[in-house]
Amino acid sequence: MRDSFDVIVVGAGLAGLVAATELADAHKRVLILEQEPEQSLGGQAFWSLGGLFFVNSPEQRRMGIRDSHALALGDWLGTAGFDRDVDRWPRRWAEAYVDFAGSEKRAWLHAMGMRWFPVVGWAERGGFLATGPGNSVPRFHITWGTGPGVVAPFEQRVREAVARGRVELRFRHRVTGLTTTGGAFDGVTGEVLVPSQAPRGHASSRETAGEFTLRAQAVIVTTGGIGGNHDLVRAAWPQRLGTPPKKLLSGVPAHVDGLMLGITEAAGASRVNGDRMWHYTEGIENWNPIWARHGIRILPGPSSLWLDATGRRLPVPYFPGFDTLGTLEHIMSTGHEYTWFVLTQKIIEKEFALSGSEQNPDLTGKSVREVLKRALPGAPGPVEALKRHGVDFVVEPELGGLVKGMNALTGEGLIDEARLRSEIEARDREIANTYTKDLQVTAIRGARNYIGDKLVRTAAPHRLLDPKAGPLIAVRLNILTRKSLGGLETDLEGRVLAPAPTSDGGEQRGEPLPGLYAAGEAAGFGGGGMHGYRSLEGTFLGGCLFSGRTAGRAAARATA
Ligand SMILES: Cc1cc2nc3c(=O)[nH]c(=O)nc-3n(C[C@H](O)[C@H](O)[C@H](O)COP(=O)(O)OP(=O)(O)OC[C@H]3O[C@@H](n4cnc5c(N)ncnc54)[C@H](O)[C@@H]3O)c2cc1C
Repeated sequence: MRDSFDVIVVGAGLAGLVAATELADAHKRVLILEQEPEQSLGGQAFWSLGGLFFVNSPEQRRMGIRDSHALALGDWLGTAGFDRDVDRWPRRWAEAYVDFAGSEKRAWLHAMGMRWFPVVGWAERGGFLATGPGNSVPRFHITWGTGPGVVAPFEQRVREAVARGRVELRFRHRVTGLTTTGGAFDGVTGEVLVPSQAPRGHASSRETAGEFTLRAQAVIVTTGGIGGNHDLVRAAWPQRLGTPPKKLLSGVPAHVDGLMLGITEAAGASRVNGDRMWHYTEGIENWNPIWARHGIRILPGPSSLWLDATGRRLPVPYFPGFDTLGTLEHIMSTGHEYTWFVLTQKIIEKEFALSGSEQNPDLTGKSVREVLKRALPGAPGPVEALKRHGVDFVVEPELGGLVKGMNALTGEGLIDEARLRSEIEARDREIANTYTKDLQVTAIRGARNYIGDKLVRTAAPHRLLDPKAGPLIAVRLNILTRKSLGGLETDLEGRVLAPAPTSDGGEQRGEPLPGLYAAGEAAGFGGGGMHGYRSLEGTFLGGCLFSGRTAGRAAARATA
């Protein structure tokens, strides 16, 4: 079947694999082109925690969580904050996605053998009013096997399709152009890269060994976002978030280079909402890095005291795990790019989870025995290793030593011991007070009303200066790049649109570009930005699944 294809899929991440399986099921001949070597198949999803957003799932119901489509859609819209003309398609994608997450998504994945950790996580808790941003209920379902467990069923289906002769995989093929005939997209051009033994996730060589031109009836772009390309991240950094950070950690491998987005735009595609990005504020340097500037995101429980670089508590509602974007916006207004968590050993043991499949070997390895060990005293192994070896950690029995360590770490001397002590003592007094005015203390108590948080995610309220809870720990938190929320504008079939004409006065809409589709992060997970400004979390992998499936099915219908 060489060089005769119905559809070319550019990028073998999750969105590309899903699109290809749909096409193969529809008896199409598919070519998947991937710039990385075979060992990196699956892209970012392999490294992910495998957290999926479901609405009203059996896992939620078993934990006593009452969720509904109306609640989830309200949460989504309050979180997205759609406010632009170009949000027409993103909003429709958001509605379609919430429908999917509350209906066939789980059953579809379950039928492929996927299962989820029984304790549902509560990400992005909001802290605003009922119509504001945030999840009203826990919805973050960690896949048994984490990211590799999400990739596996699709990789298996693709490999079966390869065996049937429906799919061909060509690695080290880097697409650099799109071809058209008579206005219809009908192929790609690119460079063959030299073979690479770079282990999964490591940067691979960009040395070329040749060129290619390949034709098909349609092309699907599933090349991911821009998070690994800090020049693009800084160029897209919006004014509302201040000046771009000088120091950024990378939460994604180097292949998330964003170059194909520019290539597709130059070929006539509409690219929208590039200024909407989902970067984290709790990034720590990986002491054992896989890719350059490798940062790990702490998924925090609610109890750590969150301080700016000068030692002042962040304002309400910027508590750990409440509002990623709002916290980022606040941090960037302080004139310093880093912040601190101050916590106790008791808190780290229960509340620090690390995002990434390699940081959760128990869940990734599907070992019930190892997972159960999380209930034992002591922090999970990878958390303890970071505490010991990570450059961002200070551990001391007394506050005086902690402050010295914090000041030595930054070399800036911005933390005043007396002021921090009085801040912590004031907070600690509220712990003894049943009728607290401190909203973080209220939030901690509220979290423990949820059995899942009480069991594994929220430490029993205690004084930070209680020596029995110690030692004290300070963690310097950096900005960590991760997801692109904007991308190629697509309609509900995943067809890439041309930019809307600007001259006519009526409703402006770009027409679909014949033969060109996009899915996954490259398409802003659908529509060019179905998350709007913020995410409810666990919505990215799901966004790849939904938009990859949609684009694959639509391209299958459209090709002869
Ligand atoms: C550590 C980590 C934890 C995460 N945890 C979660 C989570 O718990 N829940 C969640 O929902 N999301 C999570 N995510 C996000 C999620 O994994 C990604 O958003 C998603 O996997 C993106 O998939 P994709 O297929 O769109 O793009 P990618 O995975 O980036 O794949 C794109 C592929 O295209 C290839 N490519 C790019 N350009 C070209 C070109 N020009 N020619 C050929 N090939 C090209 C790339 O090499 C890559 O293999 C996490 C991400 C990371 C890194």
